[in-house]
Amino acid sequence: MFLGILEYRAESAGRGLAPAAPRDTSRTCPRQACGHTGADNRITREEFRCARCGYAGHADRGGAVNAGIRAGLVLPVA
Ligand SMILES: [Zn+2]
Repeated sequence: MFLGILEYRAESAGRGLAPAAPRDTSRTCPRQACGHTGADNRITREEFRCARCGYAGHADRGGAVNAGIRAGLVLPVA
């Protein structure tokens, strides 16, 4: 229902909709070459630091990048 409304609104605005599974997006390293997933990546609610490769950044940004990667919309963090 919600996705149907969202899709209609997106089409009305001349945009497309690309749903992405949200599971573990905030616990997964946004570096595509790494992609380590684990609760140990989250230092605090805001802070993300990959336990495998050391990538650090805001947890919400990494989560958004991961959702975008799954939807095929954005490039991964280098
Ligand atoms: Zn990593």
